Amino acid sequence: MVASPPSDPHGFKRRGVLFVLSSPSGAGKSTIARKLLADEPELGMSVSYTTRPIRPGETDGVDYHFVDLETFREMVANHEFLEWAHVFGHRYGTPKAQVWNVLEQGRDILFDIDWQGAQQLHQLAGGDVVRVFILPPSMPELRERLERRATDTQAVIDARMDRAANEVSHWDGYDYVLVNDDVEQCFAHVKTILAAERIKRSRQTGLIGFIRHLLKSG
Ligand code: 5GP
Repeated sequence: MVASPPSDPHGFKRRGVLFVLSSPSGAGKSTIARKLLADEPELGMSVSYTTRPIRPGETDGVDYHFVDLETFREMVANHEFLEWAHVFGHRYGTPKAQVWNVLEQGRDILFDIDWQGAQQLHQLAGGDVVRVFILPPSMPELRERLERRATDTQAVIDARMDRAANEVSHWDGYDYVLVNDDVEQCFAHVKTILAAERIKRSRQTGLIGFIRHLLKSG
């Protein structure tokens, strides 16, 4: 349960938000996730485990926990993942322990996971999950962004473009769908969604007490 922030005069408590951001790679999701974490002290990041090799500029334990296939398989067998999926020929999984730790600290959690993860998380935690999908403004623009990033070979970029088309077809498994043609505007929308979801009635668990008190006070 998230303790009410000091700015909340009524002392309502609320349930934490499991905030999922998905997009085809290159659509700007990582930038938005980074900005959101910098801006929102009550938001923690779920750091996934993956079997894919580390890329230049990535840090083990920060971007992902990079593990070999054997370790990943053991973690699956030990039920250590909330959800896991095959993506681009590698495995990616959300560790359970970390999510519970963040929720226990009374914070919300951001997940950068694909549509398969969003679907599994929704099946597990239903009303606590908010799923946001970020679309690129066009497919040529997406290819350009991937090429500008220059971290992948042409073959990997082609594969990512194929996968992007598949990823986009799952847009209807999300609560919100945004087009990222202007990163600042898209970020502002993501912040608005998070702010509104935090004060949604179903998350305001202290509301009944307040209403009772309110009616008595008249
Ligand atoms: P990348 O290799 O570019 O970092 O990530 C590839 C894709 O895997 C992205 O769409 C990302 O959202 C997704 N992904 C990362 N971690 C997880 C995870 O734990 N579970 C699932 N289902 N997808 C993930």
